[in-house]
Amino acid sequence: MAVEKTFVMVKPDGVQRGLIGEVLGRFERKGLKLVAAKLMSVPQSLAEQHYAEHRERPFFGELVSFITSSPVFAMVLEGENAISVARTLMGKTNPAESAPGTIRGDYGLTIGMNIVHGSDSPESAAREIELWFSEGTVSYDKAVDVWLA
Ligand code: UDP
Repeated sequence: MAVEKTFVMVKPDGVQRGLIGEVLGRFERKGLKLVAAKLMSVPQSLAEQHYAEHRERPFFGELVSFITSSPVFAMVLEGENAISVARTLMGKTNPAESAPGTIRGDYGLTIGMNIVHGSDSPESAAREIELWFSEGTVSYDKAVDVWLA
């Protein structure tokens, strides 16, 4: 077992639709620990760096405009296998193909507005946490930790 940190973000559509609490609540109830969070407008340069791997894709421009169009809620979550666990809770990239019970399956309709981002590998998580939270994260114990793993 491995304790991991993952970068998760409620995208502008999720913030505008009042889903921050719903999304965060799902991760909290699963047992992941919130170790950093902020509501923020995303500078163009940060959006481009975050989605750098998609720079050559046809949807890159739209994706960057979307993510900079309105605030996002950025966070870091920690726990056993946090990276894959968070991705499982999120559902597939395309909400139309995401199972009910997942965040995208329950709340999303189209791939362009799929509510939430989550790191897809340990390498992405490390890169994204440094990019979005260069100020660092918070380290603390919760009494419930012993009942989770
Ligand atoms: N995206 C899009 N059109 C596509 C593929 C992806 O608008 O055809 C957007 C979508 O918002 C997705 C993001 O680009 O969440 C990043 O794509 P990725 O394949 O990394 O999916 P994710 O890791 O977010 O599930």
